[in-house]
Amino acid sequence: MYQCKDIVDEVNNYIDGELPLGKRVGLFFHLLICSCCRNYLQQIRSTLSIITVSKPKEDDNTDTKLLAEKLHGIYKSHQH
Ligand SMILES: [Zn+2]
Repeated sequence: MYQCKDIVDEVNNYIDGELPLGKRVGLFFHLLICSCCRNYLQQIRSTLSIITVSKPKEDDNTDTKLLAEKLHGIYKSHQH
């Protein structure tokens, strides 16, 4: 059974569609029962879209750290 910390660990792969089906289903069922993780996933998605929109096209490397910091901030606020 997936726990909230597993969602945090796998959420990037989940969004990227890089998880095997078994894991996707596991995360999906956790999201069904856990509104906190649904909110968390929503926050991640909006954060990613903000970064994607604001990211200069010629600069592909520098936003990784920024993204990691943002995700870490969301993770901290997500703990329950
Ligand atoms: Zn959860």
